[in-house]
Amino acid sequence: MTMRLLFALLVSTLWASAQTTTVGTKPADPAAATASPPATTITQTIPKAAEADEDTGVIITPFRSLTLPDAKANRTFQLSKVNKLGFTETSKELQRLYSAFATQRIIDGSPAGSSKATGYLTTINYALVQDLGDNRFLAKAAWPASGPNEVLAAGVDTMAVLLLDKPAKLGDTGKISGMHVGTVALRFTADYAPLVGKRLTLRREAFVECATLEDSPSGLQKFVDAINAGAEMSATTNEQISCKKCGGLGFTREAQKGQLLDKRVPCAECASSGKAIISVETKFVP
Ligand SMILES: [Zn+2]
Repeated sequence: MTMRLLFALLVSTLWASAQTTTVGTKPADPAAATASPPATTITQTIPKAAEADEDTGVIITPFRSLTLPDAKANRTFQLSKVNKLGFTETSKELQRLYSAFATQRIIDGSPAGSSKATGYLTTINYALVQDLGDNRFLAKAAWPASGPNEVLAAGVDTMAVLLLDKPAKLGDTGKISGMHVGTVALRFTADYAPLVGKRLTLRREAFVECATLEDSPSGLQKFVDAINAGAEMSATTNEQISCKKCGGLGFTREAQKGQLLDKRVPCAECASSGKAIISVETKFVP
């Protein structure tokens, strides 16, 4: 799924109105310089076709792969135990988990009607700055942080690469639900002030527009029916647990020679809060 989306984002075509520009000069404008740290992994090499188009085309290559949602713990939620005496499964908890589930599923053409999102989903407000062809745009964007412990940092007035569902035009503003597909290196000729005509390479977060499941009673019913029919579903949530190191006290004890009372050492693991937040994957079973 992600590979297909990423491929769609990366498909390298010539920028429609290929321009004749001087090439090879370094971007002099500091705004053109990238704020991203150095690459740690480059998963693909530039396709041959892209090299040939180097002078005028738009080239998008993966720069840093997306951080996959990574659950630190697993648990099971059994539907047949909901609201039964002596079990922790409640309808309120089911609703909470379904809400999380709905925001982690992308509506697509799969038999189930939706697939698990393979990148963090966030809401993006954007203004399109440059058309990169094939519904890909360079945009000035803002989005809230997403993922366990905000792995995907928030964007504020940040340039990003967007793959939209429908054609759009420069200057368009809007709001989309977007899935983060990693950081890409974008090589292109700028067409916006004050960089018009400059050949630049930017490293930017890339997002693919997508629709998530609707969190509705009928959606929840379908979800329950699907699990009872044997579908494998899970939701990842942030859960607060007691800090393991200090046992939830926020400090550890240290015996002091000749003293009646132990010394209390603030717990660094949980910043003395006694609590830790971990990512938990809940699997649903009938
Ligand atoms: Zn602690």
